[in-house]
Amino acid sequence: MTKPLASDLAYVPFVSVENMMRLIHHIGVEEMLQGLANYIEDDFRRWEKFDKTPRVASHSEVGVIELMPTSDGEAYGFKYVNGHPKNTKEGLQTVTAFGLLADVYTGYPVLLTEMTLLTALRTAATSAMVAKHLAPKGAGTMAMIGNGAQSEFQATAMKVICGVDHLRLYDIDVRASEKLLHNLTGRGFQITICKTPEEAIEGAQIITTCTADKQNATILTDNMVGAGVHINAIGGDCPGKTELHRDILTRADVFVEYPPQTRVEGEIQQMPEAFVVTEMWEVITGAAQGRVSDRQITLFDGVGFAIEDFSALRYVRDRVQGTDYCQQLDMLADPDDPRDLFGMLLRAG
Ligand code: NAD
Repeated sequence: MTKPLASDLAYVPFVSVENMMRLIHHIGVEEMLQGLANYIEDDFRRWEKFDKTPRVASHSEVGVIELMPTSDGEAYGFKYVNGHPKNTKEGLQTVTAFGLLADVYTGYPVLLTEMTLLTALRTAATSAMVAKHLAPKGAGTMAMIGNGAQSEFQATAMKVICGVDHLRLYDIDVRASEKLLHNLTGRGFQITICKTPEEAIEGAQIITTCTADKQNATILTDNMVGAGVHINAIGGDCPGKTELHRDILTRADVFVEYPPQTRVEGEIQQMPEAFVVTEMWEVITGAAQGRVSDRQITLFDGVGFAIEDFSALRYVRDRVQGTDYCQQLDMLADPDDPRDLFGMLLRAG
């Protein structure tokens, strides 16, 4: 653990939404997705070093607000994130987020950043990093069910990391699919808009479900899922909010981030506590097997875990340090005499 200079500490680097967009354009979306996936994979490899806890969720009838903390002993990070499926009808985002990274040695924050864009990037990077390990080799076609805010990020990460170049889209609102088609035209995809989820999954080796609805929905039924596919199910991510029929779970091999959180929030909330799952970090380190046969159905029950946000915070910190992609935020009271906080207040009067 290195001791930082005191003068570095008073101001906290802050990445606004505007600066995050500048940073993403500077690095390039595809390059950044690959970079994030590398950071996430590195942190999954050292999984056992982290303090882990299921995220702390505050539920209401219309949504959820969550805190997602973790630490590797050197740095501590958390994300504030909401999930409000009804928001889009009111012109607001379903998911918004910001996050903070702190130095464990001093406890002082070292980065505060927007994380709405960063969450979309890290979720996509995680999905694609997992698919790289689990999807059938040479998978080129992905069904994308739910074409909202996350969808272009998901598709782009699957292209960069897994080589997906054909998208088959379905959304209950065709305007969402048309938006996706418009945004990704000229970006290396063949794109087909489908009228039903059944049509969308025809010929797809990867099926991503990324819908938002605060209910136990059945986006995929058992008879829709053929042998050999990889399902990337990321939309069901809180109690009472699932996307897959439970029969799919019994046929598939299910891979998760952190079981104590996924058992409460993921597709496997439909299954008994003893239901067998494989932790993704074990596949990455080689301690557990991933895909073992062409006919196997692999299912990533992704709910989003704090370590992925920690990796994303680390990535951003490493890219913005000493650049004009961050502003210095006067966020920490820093009296010359550490015990004279009140004196500092009086002198400002
Ligand atoms: P969004 O509201 O922007 O988009 C959701 C889309 O799903 C909408 O276009 C909607 O029309 C569509 N939809 C709803 N019901 C459908 C159905 N039955 N069939 C087909 N389409 C349907 O939301 P978003 O930001 O893209 O997020 C999508 C989901 O992903 C949310 O539930 C969110 O909580 C979740 N999410 C998960 C993670 C994670 O790490 N696992 C991260 C971010 C978001």
